[in-house]
Amino acid sequence: MRVTVFGTGYVGLVTGACLADVGHHVLCMDINQDKIARLRDGKIPIHEPGLEDLVRRNAGSGHLTFTTSHADAVAYSDLQIVAVGTPPDETGAADLQYVLAVAEAIGANMQSPKIVVVKSTVPVGTCDKTAECVAAALGARGSTLGFDVVSNPEFLKEGAAVADFQRPDRIIVGTNSAHARNVMAELYEPFNRNHDRMLYMATRSSELTKYAANAMLATRISFINEIANLAERLGADIEQVRRGIGSDPRIGYHFIYPGVGYGGSCFPKDVQALTRTAREVGYHAGLIEAVEAVNARQKTQLFDRIAAHFGGVDALKDKTVALWGLAFKPNTDDMREAPSRVLMEALWKAGAKVRAFDPVAGEETRRLYGEEPGFELAPDKYSALDNADALAICTEWQQFRAPDFDEMALRLRNRLIFDGRNLYAPERLRDDGWTYFSIGRAPVQ
Ligand code: NAD
Repeated sequence: MRVTVFGTGYVGLVTGACLADVGHHVLCMDINQDKIARLRDGKIPIHEPGLEDLVRRNAGSGHLTFTTSHADAVAYSDLQIVAVGTPPDETGAADLQYVLAVAEAIGANMQSPKIVVVKSTVPVGTCDKTAECVAAALGARGSTLGFDVVSNPEFLKEGAAVADFQRPDRIIVGTNSAHARNVMAELYEPFNRNHDRMLYMATRSSELTKYAANAMLATRISFINEIANLAERLGADIEQVRRGIGSDPRIGYHFIYPGVGYGGSCFPKDVQALTRTAREVGYHAGLIEAVEAVNARQKTQLFDRIAAHFGGVDALKDKTVALWGLAFKPNTDDMREAPSRVLMEALWKAGAKVRAFDPVAGEETRRLYGEEPGFELAPDKYSALDNADALAICTEWQQFRAPDFDEMALRLRNRLIFDGRNLYAPERLRDDGWTYFSIGRAPVQ
């Protein structure tokens, strides 16, 4: 099949490359000229395991091509996948300007009937708005060409995006058009061989499913963080409690790891957008709002502890904190809404310095904070520690899990760790003379 994908971010590029890899012919379109120029040179603008190989291989075979022209993108195929960003606007609602700009371009340029597939995460009712937009652009040309708009939300996870796309848990298609349904079945047939993963439903149900899934996962994280904060005050150990509840199959172990809060480009914005959608229909989504509030509070935990330990915010002036982990989660360089940012910004405000190391998000952090005088990027995890007053951990990268504590003690000024991801056994650190703060467990010193 011939397919056009609008947007070459995490979702668009992975979608385009994976569809090309199974034999479809894919044209990826982006308005960012620089991104497209780099992609044509085989350079991947994001860190995503397996993606570079996939893009190079399929670009090399001619299955994957790139353009900055809306007209070429629309002409290329009758299947137009929209995977552009839907960032929050100033009210927290999803900003639909990019999705609707693509809809407009499709309506303005199409010369044959199209299926417009909305893969971006969009509030309920957006597929209807997209259809209105395409129809208006067609009407302005006096055209009566037909088209369908299909909701097809994406569930891939950054850091495992290629694998998730290739082996999806489910493929959701929201449409009431039999023709669109058949075309979508054909598109995804190569990913649907083992067992039937297709779930067909009404467009609005499909749109809401994406928000419900992210809100559910965010709820689990905020829930365990709430229990962790209680555990600390009650003299319980959240790691024991986590295993105790996770063993119940109705609860399970996924997404109940306590920490410094969720970040990334999806959970924060989607939870926020869902509360705004609820307000628009006159419903107060109290649970979802609480999930957001608990998460915001959780992101300040490490700073509060560091400040309390040193005797208050003023005492942090001129202190140096080594920071392991910048990305919002391992295996990505995505810094959007990362808890590390809340910590670093609070430390700088207090006059402290941060010497940070992340296996892949260093450059992205330099792009964001390169001008900040209190920011220094270390080339490896141990040199981040040199003469620092403490170590803080924000991301659970594998390489932080079993470090050489003797080496760490030699480099740090104090045997002092503020661990936002519960990577270490407190007793072991206590026996080695460390002061160790983690989440939902009594500090050891
Ligand atoms: P992104 O910000 O990484 O990329 C969006 C891309 O769209 C950018 O390259 C931008 O230049 C391009 N763009 C903007 N306007 C355009 C236009 N008119 N024509 C063509 N390209 C245009 O975004 P992302 O992380 O890939 O997310 C895309 C959508 O998918 C969002 O709605 C997001 O919520 C959703 N989503 C993201 C993830 C994820 O893990 N990142 C997972 C599932 C769903």
